[in-house]
Amino acid sequence: MNDSAVAARIARTVRADIRALTAYPVAQAAGCIKLDAMECPYPLPDTVRDAIAATAREAELNRYPASDQQALKAEVAAAFGVPAGAGLLFGNGSDELIHLLIQACCEPGDTVLSPWPSFVYFDMAARFDHARFEAVPLTSDLELDLPAMLAAIERTQPKVVFLAVPNNPTGGTWTEPQIRAILAAAPGLVVIDEAYQPFADGTWMPELLAQPNLVVMRTVSKIGLAGLRFGYLAGHPAWIAEIDKVRPPYNLDVLSQAVLRTVLRHKDVLDAQAARLRADRAPLARALAALPGVQVYPSGGNFILARFSGQPDGNAVHLALKTRKILVRNFSAAHPLLAGCLRISVGTPDENAALLAALQDILSSES
Ligand SMILES: *Cc1c(COP(=O)(O)O)cnc(C)c1O
Repeated sequence: MNDSAVAARIARTVRADIRALTAYPVAQAAGCIKLDAMECPYPLPDTVRDAIAATAREAELNRYPASDQQALKAEVAAAFGVPAGAGLLFGNGSDELIHLLIQACCEPGDTVLSPWPSFVYFDMAARFDHARFEAVPLTSDLELDLPAMLAAIERTQPKVVFLAVPNNPTGGTWTEPQIRAILAAAPGLVVIDEAYQPFADGTWMPELLAQPNLVVMRTVSKIGLAGLRFGYLAGHPAWIAEIDKVRPPYNLDVLSQAVLRTVLRHKDVLDAQAARLRADRAPLARALAALPGVQVYPSGGNFILARFSGQPDGNAVHLALKTRKILVRNFSAAHPLLAGCLRISVGTPDENAALLAALQDILSSES
């Protein structure tokens, strides 16, 4: 193979902004306590696994997925409280839905806006899809800066506003009056990303048909099914019909659909796991906040953002945890507002205890 000929051809073919990117590093997780990706730490019980095995056996893998998803839509609507009369669109994870929303709405150069820091994929998807990403900084205490949001909306006239509620990676939940003000000011579509809704109070689902420019996006990734890749978008049927036009026709595979339908018949299992994580969040937050030099931010998600402002700093704590085979996500260098910040998923009680013991050790012996 002539590597230099390939490199030359890539240099004049692949977009410059794509060539400049570095691929996202995924940590080696074998044998580690994994608290870095907001996954549910509890595996599905054997009864559900057996039911999945039986459905998988019946799946018609020689056929394309059925184009009529009415049965699955009815089951998802019932399981997740989608209001009657709202339309539904399914994505291969909500990551795909983010692309579909931008592709359906944005001409090249149009603005996609979000408070920042927030979910990095809003920014990446906007740029991949030739839109302009407008990041509106949070306040220094990581709250929504509503005047700055309204000014940026007025100035940039965004086609799409993404609001992660609760927000990732900060955990904050923007208030109802704040969101109503944004809905009223936004000239285009407002997408409320409720990836963490199962761990929070409240939802914007009931407002879907009362607002002219609101859609709500959810995922099953954080409630025990990150491996399945399934997200859903709910909204006025007229909005959903437009966005559905850019969806790849067979984006949800036969196996995922079959497995999802089976798991939804045992949704009480998912609900119990989410309730458990939610109950374990406050004690973990209190224990983290009691460590020297650690500030904890209020979280409505299945994770906690903690700022390490003493010595060792966030980078050093991240590394020391990794040495002890505990993975958390380091945001120290991601944004100036997140200096020293680590994002930690709520794990099982044993995992949380191991994390706290390690942190106690790290913060006492290395300071
Ligand atoms: C994790 C996350 C998602 C991604 O969901 P997938 O369905 O796994 O693609 C979307 N939005 C936010 C805010 C998230 O944190």
